[in-house]
Amino acid sequence: MAGHSTPDPQVLVIGAGIAGLTAAFVLQQRGVSVRVLESTARVGGRMTTDLVGGRVIDRGAQFLSTGYPMLSSLVRRLGLSSEWVRTTPWTAVVREGRVIRFRYDDPLSSLWSGLLRPQEIWTLARQSLGALSTVRRPINDYGRWSDVDVTDAASWYDQQFGPWMTEYLVEPMLQGFYFQSPEETSCALPRAIAGFLTQGAHTSTLRGGIGRLPSALAQHLDVCLNQAVLAIEPQRDSVAIETPEGWIQAGRVILAIPAPQALQLLRSTSEAERLLLSTTYSSTLNLSLGLDGGWRPPDSLNDVYGLLIPRLERRRIAAVAFEKAKDSARTLDGHLVNVMVDGRSGAEMIAWDEARILQEILQELDRWLPGVSGAVDFHRLYRWERAEPRSPVGRASAIAHYRAVASTDQRLLLAGDYMSMPFTEGAAESGRWAAHRVLHHLGQDVA
Ligand SMILES: Cc1cc2nc3c(=O)[nH]c(=O)nc-3n(C[C@H](O)[C@H](O)[C@H](O)COP(=O)(O)OP(=O)(O)OC[C@H]3O[C@@H](n4cnc5c(N)ncnc54)[C@H](O)[C@@H]3O)c2cc1C
Repeated sequence: MAGHSTPDPQVLVIGAGIAGLTAAFVLQQRGVSVRVLESTARVGGRMTTDLVGGRVIDRGAQFLSTGYPMLSSLVRRLGLSSEWVRTTPWTAVVREGRVIRFRYDDPLSSLWSGLLRPQEIWTLARQSLGALSTVRRPINDYGRWSDVDVTDAASWYDQQFGPWMTEYLVEPMLQGFYFQSPEETSCALPRAIAGFLTQGAHTSTLRGGIGRLPSALAQHLDVCLNQAVLAIEPQRDSVAIETPEGWIQAGRVILAIPAPQALQLLRSTSEAERLLLSTTYSSTLNLSLGLDGGWRPPDSLNDVYGLLIPRLERRRIAAVAFEKAKDSARTLDGHLVNVMVDGRSGAEMIAWDEARILQEILQELDRWLPGVSGAVDFHRLYRWERAEPRSPVGRASAIAHYRAVASTDQRLLLAGDYMSMPFTEGAAESGRWAAHRVLHHLGQDVA
């Protein structure tokens, strides 16, 4: 990371999450001078890793996928390919009080494991064939799914497949990955995810933690930490930016911070921007538990990298990630698990004190991981008030509209996971889109 004593850059990027860093990297690789301003003391935002006593803790984002085109390409270009490792193929879902372990890469294993009934598998196969025609489109550009962004996920899956599909596959995935319910989420989101699950992609991570990717990007960039932007005022020939050190001018700005914070900074907005800047976020807690060397998961969770608990079975816990199954090189002296609560619990518990949160979560966790509460060596609690942008009906269409009306000479462009798919790959895609807009304006060809 360079200091910011270098001459004024052509482009300022605000926010050093994966969206902002990707935008800056794409521009820099094409010879455009760019500087990133980040309000905190570290890069990565919601994609960061802590090291505690040699153990790796992914604080926010937990998993990547070999089906993430933008992140795969960044990993290759940064020379990290040998560090990009696949998790085990085992995942688990609770049904009728039983933890059911199956291989996510083998659709038949959901039958023999008992997760789905034969009739449900048959319906799934029959209805999925019809849905396949929608699948062949980019999984990382949410705007491309606007034609199916017409109804909520609960209604669509209930009607197409039956309530078992909503309750045991769609709801646990939406809460476990995005901390939101199928009633408040457009069917476009799970339909896009289903599309890419069928492409044979593998769940993966980076050796040493997911935060290595933003850190590696930042190594190549001019990033200024502890530089909170306070206000932004687009002008005719430039953009004025207020920092703690005063106002500065930039030719072009990519604003890559979460929507509510972005809205606070902007003095004026267009209607297309306002629609997206009003995006709200789900909340969650990630309680990370380092367990002593003697604790072992039950057989039903052996080698499982992720457990999802449907609402019919849960009190608060939506998902548990197992570090050892993410990457067998991690946590050699014992297990480390990351426990995430559903969106409703996240909103309620975020203000609780740590002891109360620990007690509440351990009590429920003991049911699925027997003996866990007596085996905690250490814990870390991460409170995510803005964990993931919500995707109600209309967000994909709003993104498509914004991209269609954004002119190439627009001086301020929005990026971030709320501007595309609500996960790391979508955030990176939104950064690349904004960078390409700038390149286009500068007369450079973009693919
Ligand atoms: C618990 C949890 C689990 C998740 N699991 C996964 C997963 O398994 N897989 C996956 O792909 N995704 C996952 N995600 C989602 C993923 O982490 C995010 O979608 C992605 O990291 C968002 O990146 P971003 O760049 O859009 O935003 P952010 O990461 O939020 O980055 C924005 C940056 O802007 C900075 N900033 C804010 N305001 C200002 C300001 N005024 N001036 C300067 N800088 C500012 C912030 O400090 C931050 O660094 C998870 C998220 C959470 C919270």
